[in-house]
Amino acid sequence: MVTAVVGANWGDEGKGKITDMLGEESDIIVRFQGGSNAGHTIVNDYGKFALHILPSGVFYNHTTSIIGNGVALNIPDLFKEIQSIVDRGVPKPKIKVSDRAQIVMPYHILFDEYEEERLAGKSFGSTKSGIAPFYSDKYAKIGIQVSELFDEELLREKVTGICEKKNVLLEHLYHKPLLVVDEVMATLKEYKEMIEPYVCDVSAYLYEARKEGKRVLLEGQLGSLKDPDHGIYPMVTSSSTLAGYGAVGAGIPPYEIKRIVTVVKAYSSAVGAGEFVSEIFGDEADELRKRGGDGGEFGATTGRPRRMGWFDAVASRYGCRVQGATEVALTVLDVLGYLDELPVCVGYEIDGKVTRDFPTTSLLKKAKPVYEVLPGWKTEIRGITEYDKLPENCRKYIEFIEKELEVPVKMVSNGPGRHEIIHR
Ligand code: GDP
Repeated sequence: MVTAVVGANWGDEGKGKITDMLGEESDIIVRFQGGSNAGHTIVNDYGKFALHILPSGVFYNHTTSIIGNGVALNIPDLFKEIQSIVDRGVPKPKIKVSDRAQIVMPYHILFDEYEEERLAGKSFGSTKSGIAPFYSDKYAKIGIQVSELFDEELLREKVTGICEKKNVLLEHLYHKPLLVVDEVMATLKEYKEMIEPYVCDVSAYLYEARKEGKRVLLEGQLGSLKDPDHGIYPMVTSSSTLAGYGAVGAGIPPYEIKRIVTVVKAYSSAVGAGEFVSEIFGDEADELRKRGGDGGEFGATTGRPRRMGWFDAVASRYGCRVQGATEVALTVLDVLGYLDELPVCVGYEIDGKVTRDFPTTSLLKKAKPVYEVLPGWKTEIRGITEYDKLPENCRKYIEFIEKELEVPVKMVSNGPGRHEIIHR
């Protein structure tokens, strides 16, 4: 049985918490895309942690954590992260890294920085973790797979070709120091020694695990609207954020993914540039940002203040559809208890016409939000564990959202803690 936990929005929906919770009843937890560019925040018995590359299952003794082939593997970051949790008393996690995962190189990070610098005001708001240059190289077939670390001769030949190509750009486009083959090889040798004990044929491992009836959890990063195909291109990430890609990025058959828990946030937030129809500004946004998440809406990796907005039913319904959501986990609902009323974006007005369908980016630029306003509940809902005990207006808000999403809301999260959850 394979379950996926993915986001329906712009990321930061609270997937980390839901994965951490579902991890309790899983045997294997797999990261299948992205890199250390985004982060999950997890609050559990050991404290509060920001994970960037490690799967959220690392806090359990009974789970194996896997970095799948679809991930952008930053080896030093992985090691730093393992060390940082072990230093805080978490038992050393069982980790396996796919032999088909590709490696984020220091030059990917430099190219990311150089390109942002070159684009200046027109930049994509990259986290400068090298993710876009990494995936560009992967698909241009000049990426370095973990398996390639083990044949030095072939590796040197490949690195020589890479340096030749990159140095043209470094010299003529960016005017920056050039790459040196021996230096790149020395880095790769170091990486090989670090990663060797963890390398695994993950697809074969998962095949055997599924035969033994093991429960596998796929952990997505970011959300539907950041998917390079179905999101707000070009203000997207560079690997697919969809549950469907879980099959590719982990190496399992698509039909095995039976349960797709899609995490939807009870209001909107986004990091970086890009279309955001229900965005709010000024004091209204500051108030929500200050109260949002667990201690304010600021990026887990970058610390950047997140952009804020009201719940967007158009974007979220689309986000659930492209994920193939079988159920929704609605999160951070507790934050909204201060509001007298809650606007919900139920349509986009584009060129004078109102639509409920999420359009492509060029039309999205023209979209204006159409709101329906719901009454607030004006109380603290943290600590409530039964759905029926929620205030009536709060239940009405959930049920309104559920109707808009056209997917059952099976979990409502009313606090950052592992057990602050209401099952329906
Ligand atoms: P992710 O990338 O989807 O895992 O999301 P983040 O971890 O970046 O952002 C979610 C933030 O909200 C974190 O600080 C969580 O601790 C917090 N959080 C998750 N669920 C809830 C909730 O139900 N209520 C509150 N108040 N905070 C939550």
